[in-house]
Amino acid sequence: MLGKTMSILVSGIQTSGSLHLGNYLGSIKNWVNIHKQYDSYLFLADLHSITVPQDPSFIRSCAYEVAAAYIASGISSDKATIFVQSSVPAHTELSWILSCVTSMGWLNRMTQFKDKAGKDKEKASLGLYSYPVLQAADVLLYKADIVPVGEDQKQHIELCRDIAAAFNRNVNKDYFNLPEPMIMKEGARIMSLRDGAQKMSKSDPSDNSRINLLDDQDTIYQKIKKSKTDSISEIYYDKENRPEVSNLFSIYAALSDRKIETIIDEFTGKTFSEFKSKLADLTVEVIGPISKEMRRILNSKDYLDNILSFGAEKANKIASQNIKEVKELVGFISL
Ligand code: ATP
Ligand code: MG
Repeated sequence: MLGKTMSILVSGIQTSGSLHLGNYLGSIKNWVNIHKQYDSYLFLADLHSITVPQDPSFIRSCAYEVAAAYIASGISSDKATIFVQSSVPAHTELSWILSCVTSMGWLNRMTQFKDKAGKDKEKASLGLYSYPVLQAADVLLYKADIVPVGEDQKQHIELCRDIAAAFNRNVNKDYFNLPEPMIMKEGARIMSLRDGAQKMSKSDPSDNSRINLLDDQDTIYQKIKKSKTDSISEIYYDKENRPEVSNLFSIYAALSDRKIETIIDEFTGKTFSEFKSKLADLTVEVIGPISKEMRRILNSKDYLDNILSFGAEKANKIASQNIKEVKELVGFISL
C-alpha cells in the first residue's frame, strides 16, 4: 500500500547569538512536539545572521550552539532534516528569483526591518531589507505546508504567502502552495526581562534581558530576581499597563504547559519574591537538562558535523530538484 505523503514543515533559527528562552518557548518546544508528524526541515539560518555585521568565528560557534540546542531539546536527527542554510545554494538562487516578484512597497511595511535598522536606515544593509525574501525562499524551496515560528515572524510568513501567489501568477501555474504560519498560544512572544516593550532577542546587547539556554543555575536565579517590574508592590496581570510583570506570567505559563489564567489565579496577590523564586525554580527545572545536554553535545563537534552534512545532503536533494523546476517555469534554459 502506498503511504500518505507527509505534510512539510520548515523553520529555522539565526546563528546570531546565544539561544534564549524566547527561541525555546516560541519555536523549538513546538518543533519538538510535532516534528515527527511532518517531513521536517530545520535549518541553521547563517545567511540571515550576516544581515548585520558579525564576527566569522562567532557565527560558526553560534551555528554549533543552535544545532546542539535542536538535538538537546529533543529534535530527532533521524526524523528531521537538520542543516546549515548556506550549505544549500538553492536558498540564495530562489531568493533572487523571488526578489524579482516582490514589490518594494511590501518590504517597506515590514516592522522587523524598522526595528532592526533603527534610526539610521540609510546605513542598514540591503540584506537586512530583503531578509524576508530570503526567508520566503527558505520556506518555499521545500514547498512547506506549515511554518512554526514565534509571533514576531507572522508578518514575514504572510509576506511569504503574497510572494508565492505573485510567483504563481507570473508563471501562470499554482506551483507553490501557500504555507501557513503556526504560532503557539503560550510563549509566542516572550518579552525582554529589562523592557516589557521589546521582545527577548539574541541581538539585544544586554545579556540580562534574556535567559540563555546555556546560562547556569545561579545566573538564571540572578536574572529573574533582577528582572524589571514596576513600583506597584502587589502582583496582578495587566498586559497593557504592566508588561514586565505580565511577561513573567506568560513565561511561567509556557514553561509549565498551563494556561495563563491558571497561573494568574495561582500568583495574584502573592509577593514578588515568592513569584520570582518559583519562576526561577521552574526555569532551572526546564532549561537545566537541555543546557547540560547541549554542553555534552558541543564537546563532540564530529557528531554535529555528521548530522549537518547528512542533513545538507538530504536538503540539497529536494532543493536542487525544486529549484530546477522553478528555473524552468521562469524560462531559464536548464540543461
Ligand atoms: P535576532 O535578535 O538575531 O533576530 P532572535 O532572538 O529574534 O534573534 P531568530 O533567530 O530571529 O531569534 O528567531 C528564531 C525563532 O525564534 C523564530 O521562530 C522567532 O519567531 C522565535 N523567537 C525569537 N524571539 C522570540 C521571543 N522573544 N518570543 C518567542 N519567540 C521568539
Ligand atoms: Mg529575530
